[in-house]
Amino acid sequence: MGEQSETIQYKLKKDGYARERGGGSEFLDIYCSFCQSHIALYQKDGSGSLLRMYLDRIFEPKNLSNLQDSFNKSSLPNLRCFSCDNLIAVPMVYKLENRLAFRLIRGSFFKRKSDGTYPPI
Ligand SMILES: [Zn+2]
Repeated sequence: MGEQSETIQYKLKKDGYARERGGGSEFLDIYCSFCQSHIALYQKDGSGSLLRMYLDRIFEPKNLSNLQDSFNKSSLPNLRCFSCDNLIAVPMVYKLENRLAFRLIRGSFFKRKSDGTYPPI
């Protein structure tokens, strides 16, 4: 595939999950709090603090966003920083929606608002 040199501009997903949370979706860049490496481009739906990342809301990197197609909870790996191996999140299923997610570990990450551009500027 070669190296990715072009910037991708993503659009927010608008579906039942987003509507369920009252709209108000936004893009977030998630970073490792230990080494500041970029972890994921994520779409958060609704207000409230970020406790988990649903797999179907992870846009980048592809090795993360592709996990939703091939994994169930028992085979989903822990989410670690690609650069320093810091543990960022552990797999879970959000039972209400039967939806695969990563439960974020407090203090292991920080977030910034994004306009959906990848890679982040
Ligand atoms: Zn790191």
